[in-house]
Amino acid sequence: MQAHTTGPRVLLKHLREAMAEPLGPQERLDRIVEQIAAAMGAQVCSVYVLRADNVLELFATQGLKAEAVHLSQLRVGEGLVGTIAAAGRPLNLADASQHPSFAYLPETGEDAYRSFLGVPMKRAGRALGVLVVQTQEKQNFSDEDVEGLETAAMVLSDLVAGGGLRGLAKQGAELDQSRPISFSGARLSPGIGIGEVVLHEPRVVVENLFGDDEEHELRRLATAIQSLRETVDAMVSRNAQDSGLGGEGDHVDVLESYRMFAHDRGWVRRIEEGIRDGLTAEAATEKTAQENRTRLLRSQDPYLRDRLSDFDDLSRRLMRQLMGNAASLSPDASDFVVVARTMGAAELLDYDPKRLRGLVLEDATATSHVVIVARALGIAVVGQVSGFVARAENGDSVIVDGDEGSVHLRPADDLIASYDERIEFRARREARFDRFRDEPALTIDGTHIDLMLNAGLSMDLPQLDQTGAAGIGLFRTELQFMVANRLPRLNEQTRFYTSILDAAGDRPVTFRTLDVGGDKVLPYLQTVHEDNPALGWRAIRLALDRPALLRMQLRALLKAASGRQLKVKLPMITMVSEIDKVRVLLGREMDSLTRFGHALPDQVLLGSMIEVPQLLYQLDELMQKVDFVSVGSNDLFQFMAAIDRSNTYLANRFNPLSRPFLRALREIVRAAERHNTPLQLCGELAGDPLSALALLGLGYRVISMPPGSVGPVKEMIRSIDLAKITHLVNATVDEPIGNRTLNEVLRDYADQHGIPL
Ligand code: PEP
Ligand code: MG
Repeated sequence: MQAHTTGPRVLLKHLREAMAEPLGPQERLDRIVEQIAAAMGAQVCSVYVLRADNVLELFATQGLKAEAVHLSQLRVGEGLVGTIAAAGRPLNLADASQHPSFAYLPETGEDAYRSFLGVPMKRAGRALGVLVVQTQEKQNFSDEDVEGLETAAMVLSDLVAGGGLRGLAKQGAELDQSRPISFSGARLSPGIGIGEVVLHEPRVVVENLFGDDEEHELRRLATAIQSLRETVDAMVSRNAQDSGLGGEGDHVDVLESYRMFAHDRGWVRRIEEGIRDGLTAEAATEKTAQENRTRLLRSQDPYLRDRLSDFDDLSRRLMRQLMGNAASLSPDASDFVVVARTMGAAELLDYDPKRLRGLVLEDATATSHVVIVARALGIAVVGQVSGFVARAENGDSVIVDGDEGSVHLRPADDLIASYDERIEFRARREARFDRFRDEPALTIDGTHIDLMLNAGLSMDLPQLDQTGAAGIGLFRTELQFMVANRLPRLNEQTRFYTSILDAAGDRPVTFRTLDVGGDKVLPYLQTVHEDNPALGWRAIRLALDRPALLRMQLRALLKAASGRQLKVKLPMITMVSEIDKVRVLLGREMDSLTRFGHALPDQVLLGSMIEVPQLLYQLDELMQKVDFVSVGSNDLFQFMAAIDRSNTYLANRFNPLSRPFLRALREIVRAAERHNTPLQLCGELAGDPLSALALLGLGYRVISMPPGSVGPVKEMIRSIDLAKITHLVNATVDEPIGNRTLNEVLRDYADQHGIPL
């Protein structure tokens, strides 16, 4: 059903008049809500404005009780209005009280109204408030109503952003959003980064909303569209010539959808309609972008929803064309921090790594591809910082604290000073690690520990020399596949693996075969939808069902290691019989290489990851079947404790150093000793000095970790008496559950014996 009584053109005309009249700010706002309610045939129209303290305050209403104005308030995320502000999307409800987020505000008298339509007020993507209309009878608002209200929200946003409502907020609360503000999020990559904000998707602020000369605006639009199409066509043909692998070159899909949108007549027609309603070409472009966003977000087609960011990007390009600042947006600050809702791994590589200090992401977990790449680059990352993009502006100063999981936007000088001190402290610590980089990782009582690196991209390789690690204990081969635009060919894989082995020289490298599927998605490989991807069709399961991929990878590895040692391990083995199947494939590849006259590796060692609990009950069979085993403590703990490793709500709920898990890890050591099977461990546990101390006590002697951990773990090792630690750890693990945790026991011991943790 359609509630509005007049078209957007008339509404826009009335709003324009209300803006031009010599009125005080409150009267102007009251006049505007009155006009909107009348134009839309609604009994209620209310404006909620976002204050600096993240509270939405009722600023004006037509229809609700007048005494609620500047009294009613909701936090972002609270109630329907807070939900709209948080999600940045309209809500169109026939019966508001049925919505799970509905929060009744008794002072407003809104219980008389059933239907509800609310749209976010935004300027250049930044949340400023929420505009709502309500009617007494149950009804769905039409698409045209939504569009009309979005237009009105644009006008109101202009008023808020222009400072037109300053001083109106309750008890002098601030609307100014440029004050210091701190956020907390998830610690995704350690370190501290200080620099200027660079928005990954820069905003374009429309300065003039109302167009005076329709024909002039239509001509401006036609010229800008023409040149946009030429740019996009040129990008597509440039990409067609570029067959290189890796981060360079734009993604084919992205470019194709650019082209599709740029040549879409419907898009242009809608912008032209906006101009005829009285907007400038750029304001009409923004309005159309908002409408399309609403439509695409509602769409059931996942392909279309995925294309939303491409479409937004294209709209921004068109707005820049129209506003004449199409200049390059590459940051020129000497230190900068990239801020994004989400981004691909390859996109991060487009920024100059020498000046990139940190990364803030609204949507990401520790296993997101971009985070893995950032960690390899040694950049501090904080994720799950909701609402950050809306509050940050290009050029704002920011501190990213990846150790604490906090982000400080526009920090005060004393906070910057205290962080400067922490950075200096870290630098002194790094210098200390540097001094014993070439010394062995030897305990006081003479046991040698092999400290290995976890790696996955060629940019990780310099870390071998920089950290003094003994080799690469885990080479995650899927990362190369994840940052590529298409499946890497056999010779590309061979070249890549050869370069890794060359860089490692005498130091051993353990390659892990592709661990894709589940949440590690290859954009060019078709996968199936899974309810539980971590338990799904991933890693060795996918490899055995689609053996061509695994065979190609094994062939590439065999060729790369020709004349030297090849160590390969298999992810997510559940049954030892899976290893037999891989051995058959490996044998075939070796035979075929021999037949074609290729020299094989001197030695081929096949190992298994221990990540699936069921393998713990096949340990004797396993140890006899493989040349080595490697515990993947990230997955093993996730499955043992039934705790999703990427779920931030559960991140610290269970302790990996609890007795049950340690007893399981000890069983693995004992089985490996029984069969003389070399053993290593390569999950994140190995990289934390306290956990590494526990692992050494259990009997682990080869551990693999992220580059930043080698120094701290080596420093710990060089100060311990391993025999005493072994006794202490085993005695504690044998104690009843509920006694002091091993964390507490080891921490006390370390304090007493001057062991740095
Ligand atoms: C693990 O599971 O511990 C592991 C090393 O593999 P990944 O983190 O790549 O799953
Ligand atoms: Mg794993």
